[in-house]
Amino acid sequence: MDGERQSLGSSLEQAELGGVTVLFGERRGRYPQGNSLAVRGSEESLVIDPSLGLYPRRSSLPPADRILNSHCHEDHVAGNPLYRGVPCHLHEADLPGIASLDAMMALYGFDGPEADPWRKALVEQFHFEARPDALPYRDGDVFELGDRRVEVIHTPGHTRGHCALHVLPDDVLYLGDIDLSSFGPYYGDAWSDLEDFERSLERVRGIRARWYVTFHHIGVLEGREAFLERLDRYAAVIPTREERLLEFLAEPRSLEEIVAHRFVYRPQDDIPFADPVERRSMGQHLERLVRDGRVREVEAGRFAR
Ligand SMILES: [Zn+2]
Repeated sequence: MDGERQSLGSSLEQAELGGVTVLFGERRGRYPQGNSLAVRGSEESLVIDPSLGLYPRRSSLPPADRILNSHCHEDHVAGNPLYRGVPCHLHEADLPGIASLDAMMALYGFDGPEADPWRKALVEQFHFEARPDALPYRDGDVFELGDRRVEVIHTPGHTRGHCALHVLPDDVLYLGDIDLSSFGPYYGDAWSDLEDFERSLERVRGIRARWYVTFHHIGVLEGREAFLERLDRYAAVIPTREERLLEFLAEPRSLEEIVAHRFVYRPQDDIPFADPVERRSMGQHLERLVRDGRVREVEAGRFAR
């Protein structure tokens, strides 16, 4: 159930969850689009993760005394320039990423000339603007808006500073890029961490809310049962990737062979940065399997179970 979903003509849709408005991006917030939240309090208002979906709404943007970015990724900060001069907040661990384009590139782990198309896309497609003035928030911080408040829950793994945001008293838990998609958790950036992600999944599992909102795909879920069903399927992608890797390591393989085989993406997917993402993601699984003694380095650079 999506609350009171309203069509605003063309592809612009929104839903009202108490005093929280979900502003859906095109195609239900499918990447590179996303779903933003507007929270109106009696004293202050804020917008969470202004997405590309706000550009077609620029003539009637929701008011904001502050912008909260759940983490420093291109699609979540894409609409920040629509709120120039409005204070912008990120978790302290992701804060350095928004200070400059170079810092943003370091977060992904991309450098050298082969990263130039991505650098260009950040600026041209995602409207990236550096915010060296952005302000840090931390786990447990509360943004008081008068009759509403937003509580910060640090859920690292996707990035170092990724956070979920709990809007009360409406009881809307915004999950950012813990997106509950069938793709599964993404931990393929330089600033990603598989085991932090696993701990964060356990943490959000324990949070009771009436509504759960993701930035992409799923959008709005009502009730804990619907959330847990999605969360279980989503979290299960991690052990599935690991089991598939273990099977592949019936014979000695190098990390480059693991990358070429593809575990995160499908072999036929034409993704520009598939190789580095596979290397970083599956490299973390490989490291864990070696650490746990389930896989051995049988010769230099080759691993088998
Ligand atoms: Zn992200």
